[in-house]
Amino acid sequence: MNERIEPQTGTAFELHRGDLLRVIDPLGEQVADLVAFAREDKREWLSSGRSIDYANTIYLTTGHVLYSNRSQPMFTIERDDVGRHDFLLTPCSPETFAIIYKNTALHPSCFGNLCTHLARFGIEPDDIPTTFNIFMNVEILPTGELKIGPPRSRAGDVIELRAEMDLHVGLTACSAEMSNNYAFKPIEFEIVRAS
Ligand SMILES: [Zn+2]
Repeated sequence: MNERIEPQTGTAFELHRGDLLRVIDPLGEQVADLVAFAREDKREWLSSGRSIDYANTIYLTTGHVLYSNRSQPMFTIERDDVGRHDFLLTPCSPETFAIIYKNTALHPSCFGNLCTHLARFGIEPDDIPTTFNIFMNVEILPTGELKIGPPRSRAGDVIELRAEMDLHVGLTACSAEMSNNYAFKPIEFEIVRAS
């Protein structure tokens, strides 16, 4: 039975080492921001820099390992129907909407949703690093400029991540207009327990 993250919301949960986290885009073209912290010590967190460095690519997919800031494996990607995710950009935040979209009105955000749900694990806003932005489609142009396109995910597409340590995890259905082809949809996920 899949759990559902309603549009522009988020959740947080625990994984044990060996658990499989399956993230599903039920309708297509929807981004889900993922972040993780070691349960043993929240100062160990999912690191974009380490992961990209060791994989030697910004496009992480099946077979790649997502590392912590302490260079320990946190996840292995075991299945990837889409093959395009982003690990360069931060979770959308109220400031994202003010600076990029010139929108200072109240707006849900991945950062806000992660803060809300990770608080019960003692994780504070300043602890939240660059997120692994599942299904987010970011291209780098020859000039170095970034181009955000519609996600390549279609209805029912899946990514599966094997937890390599005990983790606190935050996961959202992204709230940013451009990242989701200007329509907000739910995200689903399933945890297949190792034991
Ligand atoms: Zn977002």
